[in-house]
Amino acid sequence: MIRKLYPGGKARAFNITYDDGVLQDIPFVSLLNRYRLKGTFNLNSGLMEQEFAWEHPSGALIRRLPTAAVSRLYEGHEVASHTVTHPYMQGLSRDEMMYQLVQDKAALEALTGREIRGFAVPFDWYSDEIAQCAAACGFEYARTSQERYCYTPPGDYFHWAAGAYHIMPGFWHFAERFFQAEEELALCQIVGHSYDLDTERMWQRMEALLKRVAEDPDTLSMTNLELVRYLKAMDQAVITTQRIENPSGQTLWFSRDGHVFSLAPGGILPL
Ligand SMILES: [Zn+2]
Repeated sequence: MIRKLYPGGKARAFNITYDDGVLQDIPFVSLLNRYRLKGTFNLNSGLMEQEFAWEHPSGALIRRLPTAAVSRLYEGHEVASHTVTHPYMQGLSRDEMMYQLVQDKAALEALTGREIRGFAVPFDWYSDEIAQCAAACGFEYARTSQERYCYTPPGDYFHWAAGAYHIMPGFWHFAERFFQAEEELALCQIVGHSYDLDTERMWQRMEALLKRVAEDPDTLSMTNLELVRYLKAMDQAVITTQRIENPSGQTLWFSRDGHVFSLAPGGILPL
């Protein structure tokens, strides 16, 4: 019985992805770094220099990070696009959609010095047209604002519904049960904003979850892009009763009857 695993022979992957690039990302990234975990941060390049703040329903003022803070803050984490100006995309022409994606990608690449390959849609409206634009712009995945509340990996990387939004009822139960998840390539994906940790007063609870992830020997912290690239490579694996083939460019991990092993790029393992 062959079972697919994540890098390092881990049974489960944990991913946390926060949107909008706000001031609370600074302590949140520190928290991730303290536990040697990775996050994905979806930023709006056109809103960084603006000094405005918006009032959250709780009364808290939410402020964007300035550009100068962004270039260094996210080292070791993934930066992804969230459009230039965070528009509601339903009203946009195709040219406007393309501008929001191409321009944000280019601006974030200039700012971070890294390739930007991920996209998360602003607000909750998504369409096949956005997916097509994201693929045409060179993104490798597009995350929607839908939630799935399950631990199976996404089937379509351009219609990637998130696992769970961390302020919704049932979230903590979802996060707790993950550590017993039996699904193959089990994934816990959490989405939200770092300012939610202030407004919902859940910094301590989130830190306890991150600590548990860091201490769990069967869970690997991955960015969205790392996940997509690994899962796409795993999709290429050929598994028969006689052998396993890895035609991808990545080392893949498996277990057989509890024995963990890896297969190098291009490798073939007779069974
Ligand atoms: Zn947003």
